[in-house]
Amino acid sequence: MRIVLKGAFWMAGYSSQSHTKAFVQLPMRTSSICTARDHRIIYTAATDHTHTMQQAVVTWNSRFFNVLRYAWDAVRRALQAYAAVPWTGDAAGTAAAAAAAPGAEAVPLSVNYHFTRQCNYSCGFCFHTAKTSFVLPLAEAKRGLTMLAEAGMKKLNFSGGEPFVRDGGRFMGELIRYCKTELRWAGISVSIVSNGSLIQEKWMHRYGEYVDMLAVSCDSFDADTNRTIGRRQGSRTDHVSKLYEVREWCGRHKIAFKINTVVNTYNVNETFAEHIDRLRPVRWKVFQCLLLEGENAGEGALRDAARFYVTDEQFDGFLRRHARVRTLVPENNDAMRDSYLILDEYMRFLNCRNGKKEPSASLLDVGVQHALRGSGFDEKAFLDRGGIYVWSKQQLSKDDLEW
Ligand code: SF4
Repeated sequence: MRIVLKGAFWMAGYSSQSHTKAFVQLPMRTSSICTARDHRIIYTAATDHTHTMQQAVVTWNSRFFNVLRYAWDAVRRALQAYAAVPWTGDAAGTAAAAAAAPGAEAVPLSVNYHFTRQCNYSCGFCFHTAKTSFVLPLAEAKRGLTMLAEAGMKKLNFSGGEPFVRDGGRFMGELIRYCKTELRWAGISVSIVSNGSLIQEKWMHRYGEYVDMLAVSCDSFDADTNRTIGRRQGSRTDHVSKLYEVREWCGRHKIAFKINTVVNTYNVNETFAEHIDRLRPVRWKVFQCLLLEGENAGEGALRDAARFYVTDEQFDGFLRRHARVRTLVPENNDAMRDSYLILDEYMRFLNCRNGKKEPSASLLDVGVQHALRGSGFDEKAFLDRGGIYVWSKQQLSKDDLEW
């Protein structure tokens, strides 16, 4: 009996090593992030983990212990599914508590992964331009996401460039599926920001169930304005009809739909309200055009966005004109700066503190905590701009998801 128990403990620890690691680390990092139910699981997992230190007295390959290993695996999966509680609205308190706890490690709660800089559009104000065509191998990207999950990531936003440029979205789709299946224990909500032009419904059929929210960029409902801005591929001017098509697919596949708009010189006097009413996004995020040295301004930049820039007064005028739109979430330059954790194609955090994007070391090389130190991220600014809201589609109503 003693031998059986020792063997079982050893195998429990071995087969769950990578997965229990996060549970074991959580209480040390920020206990307030866990519910009482999580603590029960953490305790169990930690106990098992401790026993991995005991000397094993059996050989791993014996048939008897393989049976035990498979049994444990089934139990472990059930525990992980049980632990994957949807993210709740008390995350603001959690993040604040984590930041305030003396000596606590930083928690990369919400991460924006710009895994490619390539795009099929050519918006004149773009501030994440195609400086490289590099994309990590899939296995490396998965390794990085696992590290972020273990560090406490609860929301992952895929962005670019245009994320559907790479393999028609398959690269991103596989990463999303990985987050929602292999990393299910982490309870990560997944969103995407896309220009919408390359999305196909077959992609929705394959990966839609794993996506919580899809944001499509739209700076105008006027074809001429979109042409002037560069929100088009070649001579195509179907941005608005594609936006409506994607909106319909989101409703069909139960994905929360969002619209992102950059207010600039060419759309600042336009009125969006009628279309926004019709499209019914759960959020309409309205940004003030931002200038970043080396990206869309100054030396070494691929764009010069100066002619797109609008003043605070002009931006406020746009907001006033749309004040009745309930879902509008405004973000001026001050609110944007330093309030996003931006991960580039090499998995380096981009520090925007000096008005340009300065990369940290890659978290794949130095670990998440070390890389975070170079991120320039301001957690207070993140909380102040309302960075925490309902991220999980499980927490949205049927009415919010359908169209
Ligand atoms: S669609 Fe987005 S990534 Fe592409 S050029 Fe426009 S702003 Fe840049």
